[in-house]
Formats: sequence, structure tokens, C-alpha cells
Amino acid sequence: MNILSEIDCYGLCLTLPDLAPFVGLFVVISITLLAASLMIRKPRQRLFTFVSAQVAVLLAIASAFYLMRCGYMLSFYLYAAYVMISTVIIFGVLRFYDRILVRRLDARPAGNIMEWTQEFVDRLASATVYYYDSAIPRAFASGRSIFISFGLLETLGDDELKAVLAHEAWHVRNNSRTPYLKQLALMTFSSSKGSEIEYMADCFAAEIAGSEALKSARSKLDKVFI
Ligand SMILES: [Zn+2]
Repeated sequence: MNILSEIDCYGLCLTLPDLAPFVGLFVVISITLLAASLMIRKPRQRLFTFVSAQVAVLLAIASAFYLMRCGYMLSFYLYAAYVMISTVIIFGVLRFYDRILVRRLDARPAGNIMEWTQEFVDRLASATVYYYDSAIPRAFASGRSIFISFGLLETLGDDELKAVLAHEAWHVRNNSRTPYLKQLALMTFSSSKGSEIEYMADCFAAEIAGSEALKSARSKLDKVFI
């Protein structure tokens, strides 16, 4: 049986009254999840819904085959291969997410305009500091990169900036301690109370740059976000 006659077989079998609602349900679930994964902005939830959609389609095809009692499952194997390849691609993308961010934000090495920022981070972690053009003061880490916005450079004094950089350097150093999917949420320098990881990053920052500098960086940025 080739793939075309297999599709024919699907069409024929799926119109059977006892199969249609069952497979229809899976199709609706898959489409809903897929649409959700396209609409959701938070990367973590987005990935979850996308993977769930994949699994739902896989289940739909597998159960249809089972109910149809087809002996040959070419399209099932093809889809399974597709799921495997796309999963590898997704996780590959995550691995190089910071490269993508550099391009998307049109970020440039911060060492070019403020040499000390890169030198300071070099002593703490093997990471590259990038700045990008945005008035909103923001700092976050992804992979082996630390991103700071132009607005942040304008808002903070050197000591406060050191506290922020040390905080982000701690994230880079402890990437492996952060759950893989959580890394996607970008490790931002914002007051997220109650997170153990943020607390440990803050402790490190206070140790390196002093707790006063950390506190005043936080209060300046909190004012911006309120
Ligand atoms: Zn953080």
C-alpha cells in the first residue's frame, strides 16, 4: 500500500459512524492545542501546548489505525519521524536561543561601548555581555549571554550595573541548576519574590557588588516597572 492509497483508506474508514466522533475529538484537541501554542506568548507554555498537540495528533493517528485494523502504518511511521525530528529541532533552537536573541534584538557586545562590563563579567562567568536598543531598563540571561538594554545603562550607576551583571552571571554559571524549560522564560533581573534561584543570584550579586548597590538597582528598576 502506498501513502496515497493509505490516505484513501483513511478517508473511507473515518466516515464510518462509530469512528468519526472518536477521531474528530482528537482532531479538535490537536487543532485547539496547536492554535494555543501559536497564540501563547510565554515560551514555556507555548512549548508545552505544542508538544501536547504533537502527542494528540500521534494518538489520533495511532488510534485510528488501531480501530481500522490496518496492517501497514506508513503514515504513522512518517508522523513519528516528524515528531522526533521536530523535537530535536525545538531543543536545538533552545540550545542556541541566545544566538537567536542576539539577531532579533540586534544586540552588540557591550564591551564595545563600556569595556569594563565585559571585563567584569569575565571574572565571574564565561559569558558575553550584549546591549540592545531599548529605552526600557532590562537585563536578562540566556545560555552563555547576558543582555542589557540601553535604558538600563542610562538608568543605573556603575555599582548598580555591577550588581545586575553579577546577578545575571550567577544565572549563566548555574544554568544547569535551572530546569530546562524554566531557562526559556529568560532569567530576568526583576523582583520575583519567593524564587529560590532568584534569591541565590541576589546573594551572589550582593557578595560581589555589595548589598547597597543591589538594593538601589532594584529600587530604581522597581520604580520604572510600577
Ligand atoms: Zn534573576
